[in-house]
Amino acid sequence: MPNMRMDKNPMPSQDPNVRNKNFDEVALGYTEEQALDEAARCLNCKNHPCMEGCPVQISIPEFIQKIAEKDFEGAYQVINRSSSLPAVCGRVCPQERQCESKCVRGIKGEPVAIGRLERFVADWHNKNVTAAPEKPASNGHKAAVIGCGPSGLACASDLAKKGYDVTIYEALHTPGGVLAYGIPEFRLPKAIVQKEVDGLKALGVKIETNVVIGKSITVDELFDEFGFEAVFIGSGAGLPRFMNIPGENLNGVYSANEFLTRINLMKAFKEGSSTPIEHPKKAVIVGGGNVAMDAARSAKRLGADVTIVYRRSMEELPARKEEVEHAIEEGIVFKLLNNPIEVVGEDGRVKAVRCQEMELSEPDESGRRSPVPVEGKINEIEADCFIVSIGTSPNPLIKSTTDGLDTNKRGCIVADESGATTREGVFAGGDAVTGAATVILAMGAGKKAAAAMDEYIMNK
Ligand code: SF4
Ligand code: SF4
Repeated sequence: MPNMRMDKNPMPSQDPNVRNKNFDEVALGYTEEQALDEAARCLNCKNHPCMEGCPVQISIPEFIQKIAEKDFEGAYQVINRSSSLPAVCGRVCPQERQCESKCVRGIKGEPVAIGRLERFVADWHNKNVTAAPEKPASNGHKAAVIGCGPSGLACASDLAKKGYDVTIYEALHTPGGVLAYGIPEFRLPKAIVQKEVDGLKALGVKIETNVVIGKSITVDELFDEFGFEAVFIGSGAGLPRFMNIPGENLNGVYSANEFLTRINLMKAFKEGSSTPIEHPKKAVIVGGGNVAMDAARSAKRLGADVTIVYRRSMEELPARKEEVEHAIEEGIVFKLLNNPIEVVGEDGRVKAVRCQEMELSEPDESGRRSPVPVEGKINEIEADCFIVSIGTSPNPLIKSTTDGLDTNKRGCIVADESGATTREGVFAGGDAVTGAATVILAMGAGKKAAAAMDEYIMNK
């Protein structure tokens, strides 16, 4: 008999007043008992609507059924058929907008906690199964992947499983891309990312770090000198946008990318770090996405009083609801319907952020309400740090060093549904194509491109 309780099993978490002073993971994960109880809420629907919401098409009812049967490794193997990063997706997927948004249990209550169950299964496997996956037999073909983030890892994994000799080229010194430099430890411990990367290496994937494609090696050289038959570009969108307001060159102004990279990748908050970061006392973050929440919560953990400034209202805030709730619980202040217009300085340093009050206009034809300034309503927030988190674009380096690769006016690589670009043999996916999006969408694109690369190479 299914468990017809309306709400999900809550996720055990660190106390907000404790966790806002440390970088340990906030969510602690389900116990076996909680996972079994939650799995019993799944109705094992024949037409599995939840799967429509998963960009990598995990067989959701099947893996949940295995949990209900206490076959946790069996559940892992079901997920692993479709996803190479289950411990990551179970943590950072916006499930409420994807698989869980389609779950029938969500019609009259809360959906089944698919993401939390996925995380439980992946963590159980990582803790209890030490045997490395078997290396597939070689098919004698070579493919290169540029970028070791979610799309590159997913693409490499699928190609390796088909027997390709795959090399990933990563510009930074650590694999993982945005999983390593962007998402903080308290949301995604780096040991988890490393574990998933190790699984990929066991499949035979080679990872070359500190190689900047377009500088160290060009795409042409990958084909002509290294003998790769197809190349996947999953170089992400790491180029930060700024507001272009007065004072953005003052000391104490960061892009969210720089701020998070220093903390996540360089561990700048630790004493003796080679790339230290100042511990701000009062930080202002502009933006309303997940990256803004990450930057704000990181600044809080460095000891700052933190204010998020966003030009629309709470309703339009694009970050995941769970992340916003966590930020509020941790003591972060939201200054909504405001937009920074100047960073005020003193002796070359940030002293305050001047904001324009906004209001939402009447809905336009599409129903969208735009923020418009309220005349004469200007205010100032005292601050010694200003972090800009208003989006990122792809780095233009690969485009500028690769003939025949078209990009659109936002600098994103032009690719069709399968990931094929305008340059023969070159495929692309993830944020490099879409602009900054989610981990799971990038993984879905990497998987699609792997299938298209396989077809391309086999038919050549
Ligand atoms: Fe849901 Fe993401 Fe897991 Fe797919 S990968 S089932 S969207 S949590
Ligand atoms: Fe289970 Fe919900 Fe999927 Fe139905 S829609 S199979 S209840 S997870």
